[in-house]
Amino acid sequence: MNNGILFVMSGPSGTGKGTICSALLENKENDVFLSVSSTTREKRVGETDGVTYNYTTFENFESMIERGEMLEYAMYSGNYYGTPKKTVQDMLSAGKNVLLEIEPQGALKVKEIFPEAVLMFIVPPSMAELKKRLEERGRETEDQIEKRLEAAKWEFNQSPKYNQIFVNDNLENCVREVENAMKDKIAKRNLVDKLLSEKY
Ligand code: 5GP
Repeated sequence: MNNGILFVMSGPSGTGKGTICSALLENKENDVFLSVSSTTREKRVGETDGVTYNYTTFENFESMIERGEMLEYAMYSGNYYGTPKKTVQDMLSAGKNVLLEIEPQGALKVKEIFPEAVLMFIVPPSMAELKKRLEERGRETEDQIEKRLEAAKWEFNQSPKYNQIFVNDNLENCVREVENAMKDKIAKRNLVDKLLSEKY
């Protein structure tokens, strides 16, 4: 069996990448599975342990790093976030397409390990819109919003290293564009696999 495709999505906080990923996963036609990350940050209202994230302590997270269990990890806003190596490798080798929703330090590390991974970056239409979305979401204090906007600038600078950039100025359109890009990759990969197996 051929390996699945590894899709990686990044984008600054407030760009709507979480909503886009949920929409992609809800549509079963997309044939893609989300890898659940581990984090040391607090669980938020509406999140589920083992589904949104695997929540763990700093001590436990550092032991997982030492044991080499993380495909990648990063420190973001004072907390660890990381992708489990074994789950991702197992899904890919079972032929499943995997989606990671991670920040750019981790995404670029993944690209080093899997150069064939497809990196997708979500941007807002403007900084004013990004600020508005963060404020409306009401999850962070003014100070934290300021930090996230500062972090967004660094993230925007990483976007040229991604395979494709999507503008989320309309959620439905953006989901459709990402979906089409992923479907196209999967279809081309399937075609190449077919070509390789054909007799001539
Ligand atoms: P949040 O706290 O808002 O859920 O996530 C904060 C940031 O961490 C987001 O940019 C999210 O994409 C990123 N993130 C989530 N899981 C991982 C992971 O496993 N690895 C890395 N590098 N970043 C992650």
